[in-house]
Amino acid sequence: MARAQRPIYLDYAATTPVDPRVIDRMAGFLGVEGLFANPSSVTHAPGRAARAAVEEARHEVAALIGARDREVYFTSGATESNNLAWRGLAASRRDRGCHLVTSRIEHASVLDTARALEAEGFRVTYVPCNREGRVEPERVREALTPETLLCSVMHVNNETGVIQDIAAIGGLCRDRGIPFHVDAVQSAGKLPIDLSELPVDLMSFSAHKVYGPKGIGALYVRHDPGLVLEPLIRGGGQERGLRAGTLATHQIVGLGTAFRIAREEGEADAARIRQLRDALWERLSRLDQVHLNGGGAPRACGHLSASFNAVNGESLIFFLGNLAVAQGSACSSARGEPSHVLQAMGLSPGEAESTLRITLGRFTTPEEIEIAAERIIQAYTRLAAIAPGSGRRHAG
Ligand code: PMP
Repeated sequence: MARAQRPIYLDYAATTPVDPRVIDRMAGFLGVEGLFANPSSVTHAPGRAARAAVEEARHEVAALIGARDREVYFTSGATESNNLAWRGLAASRRDRGCHLVTSRIEHASVLDTARALEAEGFRVTYVPCNREGRVEPERVREALTPETLLCSVMHVNNETGVIQDIAAIGGLCRDRGIPFHVDAVQSAGKLPIDLSELPVDLMSFSAHKVYGPKGIGALYVRHDPGLVLEPLIRGGGQERGLRAGTLATHQIVGLGTAFRIAREEGEADAARIRQLRDALWERLSRLDQVHLNGGGAPRACGHLSASFNAVNGESLIFFLGNLAVAQGSACSSARGEPSHVLQAMGLSPGEAESTLRITLGRFTTPEEIEIAAERIIQAYTRLAAIAPGSGRRHAG
C-alpha cells in the first residue's frame, strides 16, 4: 500500500503491530529448518530445544512482572486468562462461598464471565467508578464480605487509560484473605509491575497489546498452596495440568520476545508516546465542547479518550478518512452499544457515542500526530457548524 494511502493507525489499545524483532524470532520456530518440534517431545533433541525456548519465554514474561517462572502459565490470550482466573477459582472455592467482586468498567471477558457465573448461582457485586473513571478502594472495601471468593479489578482501563490503585485494592483483599485478580492487558510493558511487591494473586496478560502476536497470553498465578484453580481445558497435562493443549511454540517465543523488548525499552517508549499524546490533546483541547475523559486521574501513556460533544461520533469518524481511531472500545463497538465504561463515568449515551478513543504506540510518529490533529480539528469544526443548535465558535 502506498504510504499516502496507508491508514494512520491510532488504535493501539485494540491491537498493536508485531515488532519486526518479534516476527524474526517467531519465524525460526515454524519451518522445516526451524525449531518446529513439539516442546513436550523431550525424548529427542529438537523437542528439548523447543522446550528450552518455551522456558526462556516464560522467564522473559516473569522478568517483566517481577514473578517467578513457575508462576507464569501460557494461554490463548487474556480472554482465556480472565475466564480461567474467574471460573478456575469459583470452581475450586465453591464450598467457601458464592460471592465475587469486580468493577463496572472491566473488559467484556470479565463482565460476561461474571454474568455467566451469576446465572449459575453466584452473586456478583459490580463496584462503580467515580467521574474520573477511578474505582475507589473504599467502595471495594464496602463490597467485600466473608463469603467473597475473588475480587477482580483491572489495572489500566482499555477505553480511558485510567490507572487503578491495585496496590490499595489488593491490600484490602490480602487483609481479608481474598484472592485478588488483575487484568493487566493494557498496563504490561507500559507501567512498572512488580508482583514480588504487589498484593496480587492472579494477573492476566496478552501479547498483542505489547507488539507480540494475537492469540497468545499468560496468566500469573501466585505460588501459594492455598490458591488452586480448576482447569478450563483438560487433556495432555501441559502447563502443569492447568491448561492442556500442545504449546504454540512460535506464539510463546513471540510473547517472550515482546515482553523482553518491553522490559528493555518500555520506559523510553512510554515517555516518547506520552509526549506525543499530550501534544495531540493540547491541540484538541482548544476546541469548544471537547472533554477529556479521565483527565483528572492518572493515565497510561498512550490513551486519549475525548468526547466531541457538539457532533455525532459516527459522523466524525466518517469524516476522519484514513485515520484509524475507535469509537469506544473495539469490543463494545462490535456490539454497537454505547460504551459501558463511559456511562459508568456518568456520560450520557449520546456523550459516550460522541467519543473517540485515540491510542498511540511504539510506531506512532510526530508527523502522524500532526496530520491527526489537523484532520480531527477540521472535521469537528465543519460538523459542529452544521449540527443542530450550533452557532458556537470553534477554535483550532
Ligand atoms: N482485557 C482487556 C483490558 C483488553 O483490552 C483485552 C483486549 N481488547 C482483553 C482483556 C482480551 O484480550 P485478548 O484479545 O488477548 O483475548
